[in-house]
Amino acid sequence: MIRIERPACPNPTALTTNYKHPQNKEALKKASYNKCMYCESHVSQIAFGDVEHIKPKDKFPALEFSWENHGYACSKCNNEKRNKFFDQTPFIDPYSENPREHIYAFGAMLRPKQGSERGEITINEIGLNRADLLEKRDKRINELETAIKACYRTQNEHLRECAMSALITEITEDKEYSMVVQALYEAHETE
Ligand SMILES: [Zn+2]
Repeated sequence: MIRIERPACPNPTALTTNYKHPQNKEALKKASYNKCMYCESHVSQIAFGDVEHIKPKDKFPALEFSWENHGYACSKCNNEKRNKFFDQTPFIDPYSENPREHIYAFGAMLRPKQGSERGEITINEIGLNRADLLEKRDKRINELETAIKACYRTQNEHLRECAMSALITEITEDKEYSMVVQALYEAHETE
């Protein structure tokens, strides 16, 4: 989970009657690099992404058409979250706060930071350590480790620079599971 900059709403008129208007949905999709706001999976062409209500519309009907309450999520996270809402410990909203303050990556796992209850609830209730995610994150970790090794393998300065720039592109925020691979990269940096 990473911080996402909320874009301006491109079509506020359409928003008042249709929270899924394609133009507005597209803006949300672009802002998160076509990734789910919760699990950072690329939302594929076959499973269309959902416009997610950060506060569930059943419990907060007044917020159904509120742009600030909309996000872009994969159908799995959206289904897990459903109508869940906890007053004292609301889910982390990556559009208004930095998830890194509540959640960190430990290998392929996400963990709550310093006993953050909101981090814990977000991870557990949305299923951010579900088996398919752990498998995909492990794959990304292996790719990153290969890229890191390539940097050390050569004494040739030019080849090392190429390997370094390839490595840097692996950890940019538009890539899947960037929280996990960034944590791994930072751990290597401090070795
Ligand atoms: Zn998701």
